[in-house]
Amino acid sequence: MIAERCLTPELIPIFEKLSAGERLSFDDGLTLYRTPNLTGVGFLANIVRERKHGARTYWVRNQHINYTNICNKFCKFCSFYAKKGGPDPYEMSLDEVRAAVRKYKSFPISEIHSVGGINPRLPYTYYLDFIRTIKDERPGIHVKAFTAVEIVEIARVGNTTIEHTLRDLKDAGLDALPGGGIEILSDRVHTELFGKKLDGEEWKQVARTAAKVGFTQYATMLYGHIETDEERVDHLIQLRELQDETGHFLCMTPLSFHPEKTELEHLPHPTGDDDLRNIAVSRLMLDNFDHIKSFWIMNTPAVTQIALWYGADDADGTVFEYEITYEDGAYGKKQQALTPADMVRMIREAGREPIERDSHYNAIVREPQDEPAPRKLTPISVGTLSR
Ligand code: SF4
Repeated sequence: MIAERCLTPELIPIFEKLSAGERLSFDDGLTLYRTPNLTGVGFLANIVRERKHGARTYWVRNQHINYTNICNKFCKFCSFYAKKGGPDPYEMSLDEVRAAVRKYKSFPISEIHSVGGINPRLPYTYYLDFIRTIKDERPGIHVKAFTAVEIVEIARVGNTTIEHTLRDLKDAGLDALPGGGIEILSDRVHTELFGKKLDGEEWKQVARTAAKVGFTQYATMLYGHIETDEERVDHLIQLRELQDETGHFLCMTPLSFHPEKTELEHLPHPTGDDDLRNIAVSRLMLDNFDHIKSFWIMNTPAVTQIALWYGADDADGTVFEYEITYEDGAYGKKQQALTPADMVRMIREAGREPIERDSHYNAIVREPQDEPAPRKLTPISVGTLSR
């Protein structure tokens, strides 16, 4: 009955496939992007989300360190790299890296997430010492660092192979690779927006080598610029096929494009429909990914709350000092953070169950905090759905 009320005719065959546990096709993906019935798409994504995780919603105490914004790739969608009229160039010394870690040492952070520009001045040893410095300052913390484009650069300056580079980084203490580095797996978009960066096949090669070396990795999709619906679906299917092959991806994060201060500033910002739909379609197409993340810093805490009913089971984390998006000219000075109590409140207000996690999605249990009481919302039980 609930399905009959939520689903329009074009979504019924997809509902039937989900009920039978069948994988969705390219055409199904296009239907999900093109139907005006966003509520129906969210309803379907929520079925999968609750099958996998019930009401559980993961969050993490994490810190971001963006070690340099000097970059020679000049991606048109990027507001992060140093340029005339934009952010001033910076490059963190290892002492500054140590100080950044020390700054939040009194916080029980479980993960440090680090990416940076492609700065040809940094030598191979910088990257190894960067990881060693973090681990020396906070032994035991999980370090997720260096997208595939950075890995290619580190190998280039070290005059060595991707595999050797990844093994050296692992020996230095690196635990996982973040998503990013490819934006969208489309030759057309690559040529138009980020032609100096690695292409899709190179990105996949880094991912395959990371899996071989024993890293876990994350995946992303930057949406809301010049990509088509077909390119979005193709991106998701390519990720799904790669995950079938390697099984090493932990989570997928659709990333909402911020046109401000980029060469694509004339484009409109993605809408709430875009944000929710990309999360929901990712959840539905990526049947072999355990987790779909709503990154609140890019799509706002308000959208993230709704996204928890549109397929997302991860709300990211406390995120100290994120530098990648440019807002209000405050570049490099802003702090963007939600406290642990904020994270818990955001998730509970949405009627979901907050679970603090480590980087492998194991629950972390701490002493009770002063947290708001949950609203009494009862999630739909998938077992009770019928047409
Ligand atoms: Fe450089 Fe990354 Fe920005 Fe591209 S997206 S310009 S590689 S920092």
